[in-house]
Amino acid sequence: MVKKSFVGGIHPYDGKELTKDIPIKAVLPKGDLVYPLVQHIGAPAVAAVKVGDKVLAGQKIADAGGFVSAPVHATVSGKVKAIEPRRTVFGDRVMSIVVENDNYYEEIDAFPVKPLDQMTAEEIRERIREAGIVGMGGAGFPTFIKMSPREPDKIDYVIANCAECEPYLTSDYRRMLEEPENLIGGLKILLRLFVHARGILAIEDNKPACIDLLKELTKDDPRITVMELKTKYPQGAERQLIHATTGRLLNSSMLPADVGCIVSNVDTVITVNRAVTRGKPMMYRVVTVTGDAVASPGNFLVRIGTSYRQLIDEAGGFKHKPAKIISGGPMMGFALFDTDVPTTKTTSALLALSRDEVSEAGPCACINCGKCVEVCPGRVLPRKLADFAEQDNETAFLKYNGMECCECGSCSFICPARRHLTQSIKSMRRILLEKRKKGEIK
Ligand code: SF4
Ligand code: SF4
Repeated sequence: MVKKSFVGGIHPYDGKELTKDIPIKAVLPKGDLVYPLVQHIGAPAVAAVKVGDKVLAGQKIADAGGFVSAPVHATVSGKVKAIEPRRTVFGDRVMSIVVENDNYYEEIDAFPVKPLDQMTAEEIRERIREAGIVGMGGAGFPTFIKMSPREPDKIDYVIANCAECEPYLTSDYRRMLEEPENLIGGLKILLRLFVHARGILAIEDNKPACIDLLKELTKDDPRITVMELKTKYPQGAERQLIHATTGRLLNSSMLPADVGCIVSNVDTVITVNRAVTRGKPMMYRVVTVTGDAVASPGNFLVRIGTSYRQLIDEAGGFKHKPAKIISGGPMMGFALFDTDVPTTKTTSALLALSRDEVSEAGPCACINCGKCVEVCPGRVLPRKLADFAEQDNETAFLKYNGMECCECGSCSFICPARRHLTQSIKSMRRILLEKRKKGEIK
């Protein structure tokens, strides 16, 4: 069978052998839990509790602050100790609710449970909204908005993004192996929202155990297909995934729904299942803690709000002094300067490396080798775009389709001159995305 893929891409060392065979371990948080009111794309959530209030796990502690926003729920029982700005993984200070954990883990029944076949599509969407579910693959876009396109009848595919192409990450891999029924169940729930759609479980071919398992469990369901993809980074980027699985193309100003697709990652689909069938809001996620500086790398089921520092302790601490700590994977993640920050709905991994190869060897002049162009899945000219970004030349950046970059990092990875191509392009894209939001540019 021909395996599906996209044009461009790279094959970095994947580091997955460190954690792929390690079962998910649940972590009971210690000390205070911190819930930033911004853990999603859109308006900040608004605190619905006050200092001194007693809360239970699963209780809503912040309401959505607008249409594009998401409520936040406590993940332990305890007392609201403060509502104040706290440092986040991005280094900024964000208004947060701090809950002093009472260590009883008393939980509320957040939502009534109703048999799935008695729930309407609108009730399912409302449940997803109230449960505060956002895209857990990194973007943090509120899931109920994604599941409410203008014309649901025109959605042809609901794609569960099981690619997990980012090096080192194995949280989705473990979820697929340990909870395949919950993943398939979640996909079936999403298919209830789109009556004409087929479900696709899109998996890279470096995960044969997951492919076999999911094929076996879906063999009697004609609506669901397990699709094998070539292992190549960034296979799991939304546009590349849609192209590889359906042959449909979209650009940076389009949504997947514009080409009849809905894409959701493994953890998000499982969280939808939990909210709809068990009445639980978004409280947990699986985080891979890994890297050669970590004593016992592993995959952890984490209550959102737990500190990164505790996750390092759970993984046995550091065996070498890390030269670099990254939140997320090595390609799309970002350097972490303080581990006293909370995990959030979008935390996927913590990677600690004993060498920082990027800072060890600084950039030099471009040698015009063209490798960055060869690997770019966005089919743009990374070298030129980085030059335009460094010159603040917005017009040329737009003319050369700079907005089509998906910030995958492949160009920086491959560049023999070690130029910080992605970093420069990313900074310019941030500025232009803001302008696009305000309607100043198309
Ligand atoms: S220009 Fe953007 S899309 Fe192309 S390789 Fe670089 S980061 Fe990836
Ligand atoms: S990969 Fe680096 S050295 Fe080669 S053309 Fe691109 S920017 Fe220049």
